[in-house]
Amino acid sequence: MTAQIIDGKAMASGLRTAVAAETRRLAAAHGLTPGLAVVLVGENPASKAYVGSKSRAVVEVGMRPLDFPLPATTSANELLGLIGELNGDAAVHGILVQLPLPPQIDAARIIAAVDPAKDVDGFHPLNAGRLASGLPALAPCTPVGCIKLAKAVHASLSGLDAVVIGRSNIVGKPLAQLLLAENATVTVAHSRTRDLAGVCERADLLFAAIGRPEFVRGGWVKPGATVVDVGINRVTAAGGKSRIVGDVCFAEAREVAGAITPVPGGVGPMTIACLLANTLKAACMQAALPVPEI
Ligand code: NDP
Repeated sequence: MTAQIIDGKAMASGLRTAVAAETRRLAAAHGLTPGLAVVLVGENPASKAYVGSKSRAVVEVGMRPLDFPLPATTSANELLGLIGELNGDAAVHGILVQLPLPPQIDAARIIAAVDPAKDVDGFHPLNAGRLASGLPALAPCTPVGCIKLAKAVHASLSGLDAVVIGRSNIVGKPLAQLLLAENATVTVAHSRTRDLAGVCERADLLFAAIGRPEFVRGGWVKPGATVVDVGINRVTAAGGKSRIVGDVCFAEAREVAGAITPVPGGVGPMTIACLLANTLKAACMQAALPVPEI
């Protein structure tokens, strides 16, 4: 069997078009242009690249980007001061602080300082708690994108066996909550899981968010399963050139799976599109307007 490739790039493009249309409608009907503040501390090249793509995407859908590049020497108090100003600025509807932060800044303290209503990353403890309680929340973009990718294959996830490898606050845990909300039967695996291959073999839906290149082998995949690969790992290929691979060995898994996301071109583009959708949602909620279904 050769798996169906789930085209995250095409799906993300569709979502961005829908967000752009709603953004135009919001401006025409209510004179409201969502503004997204993007805060980058330091010069991490990967973070700079992510922040650049996010700001470009914001412009493309007609929203207002507000970029705050800060030196690597920024103190926690200086960053907290900026967050306070952005929280109080009515033109700012979403605040994104690019992670990781330099070692002198405690990321948890910064995340907790963002107004939960502007927390478009969905990392604030209040939003995490609302998500876990089944209440409306701004949910983290990557897991939301993963659910949309799985739903491109399965009209309903209800009753399916889902295995999530990884339990970070950013991906694994919120993804497990979203899957529960979809009525999937959820197993969360991590570095202490015994017989990881055996756990994965039971999965109708297999999500890999580990951060280890090509860690999940084809033999771990249940025939016909849907595989969503969150991993982004830069590896050096033969000849010294670098390339990006996922957490799943794509060449092996595609021979067994029913459907699989590629890396690049799977979860990555959906994460950015879901960030735009969250910014639109946050702007509507702050203006007490209905949130568009997109
Ligand atoms: P973290 O490092 O925070 O978490 C990794 C998780 O993988 C941990 O829960 C860890 O377990 C688990 N893990 C590590 N080694 C093993 C192992 N040998 N067996 C089983 N589980 C293991 O990573 P993130 O969640 O932030 O990111 C995961 C991947 O997703 C990375 O490649 C990252 O680059 C990518 N990513 C991609 C995004 C996108 O837009 N496509 C967005 C965000 C992340 P334990 O808790 O026990 O340590």
